[in-house]
Amino acid sequence: MNKQSLLILGSTGSIGTQTLDIVREHPDKLEVFAITAHTNWETLAKQINEFHPTYALLVDETHFSRLRDAVTHTDTGLLCGKEKMNDLVTAEEVDTVINSLVGFSGFRPSIAALSAGKKVALANKESLVVGGELLAPYLNGNYDRLIPIDSEHSAILQCLVGEELRNIEKLIITASGGPFRTWSRKQLRQATVRDALKHPNWDMGAKITIDSATMMNKGLEVIEAHWLFGLPLERIEAVVHPQSIVHSMVLFHDGSIKAQMGLPDMRLPIQYALSFPDRWPLPSRQIDWSKAQELTFEPVDLERFPCFDLALQAIDAGGYAPAVLNASNEVAVERFLKEEISYIQVSEIVAKSLSHIRNTDTLSVESLEAVDREARAYARII
Ligand code: MG
Repeated sequence: MNKQSLLILGSTGSIGTQTLDIVREHPDKLEVFAITAHTNWETLAKQINEFHPTYALLVDETHFSRLRDAVTHTDTGLLCGKEKMNDLVTAEEVDTVINSLVGFSGFRPSIAALSAGKKVALANKESLVVGGELLAPYLNGNYDRLIPIDSEHSAILQCLVGEELRNIEKLIITASGGPFRTWSRKQLRQATVRDALKHPNWDMGAKITIDSATMMNKGLEVIEAHWLFGLPLERIEAVVHPQSIVHSMVLFHDGSIKAQMGLPDMRLPIQYALSFPDRWPLPSRQIDWSKAQELTFEPVDLERFPCFDLALQAIDAGGYAPAVLNASNEVAVERFLKEEISYIQVSEIVAKSLSHIRNTDTLSVESLEAVDREARAYARII
């Protein structure tokens, strides 16, 4: 059997390094054609020396010479500069693009990979949030072109195997509730960056951890599910499930609910995106059924988590609103991480941006990029 040849965009981040763990588990099935990193040349050099990819790209050129000095495996072609990414995405040798870039930067590579006929394993949910309308034509109702790495969407995909789309009543996306699940509105006014970065169940990058704390992440995931599975907003529901054991559910017309469960471990959705529709073995921690377990569910509190509601409003408005939502949120999260603004100002900046920026041009990659720039500029100064 031919090995699946991978391009990992963002190989030094949380999803990227765990993808390489999967490659280590299945060297007979997977091979690394190329890896890319933004600035982390040290980790990139270690990965080159271990996995011997054909190419490696460092986007930020500042430390390119240090990368060159640190690489001992000299058969890897070392590239630098953002413009080289497109050449890798469309390279004939690539079967699957793992897109684990952070934020809007992942959008262009997603569309380039899909239009080049590649399978895309998508951890960059922002691609779908911003450009779902442009990506949707590539999906064709099949799930083998764009496979979600997000744990909730992977769970839904796993529930849908063997089912007909027409029999779905509702998708039910679970949310851990993040570190502020039990905080009062008064307490949330005092929330610090340190508090927000303490996610109870998942160990992830800083951007998504803050998005979990504001529950913007869940709003983005509803939008992601809307495009991936082609269902209207009113048939997608979110529910808080603090144990993060049920990763999401599907309710069918006959009242039956299917859930996908397991201890939180991102390697499973990553591997499933690569093995789909097959399953491969994966050594992992298991639920201990000899102990009492409690699974609880509660509704999302829109008053305490306005970002979730803003995301629903944006997808309901359609057009450029999700792009404005995403761009202003990315800037607000950056500003919160730098302690320029408070936790509750994150949602205020997103709300103001949504009501301030309007655009009625026909949707295109270029016009989305223009709106993204405009929303960022606005969110930086308010
Ligand atoms: Mg998720």
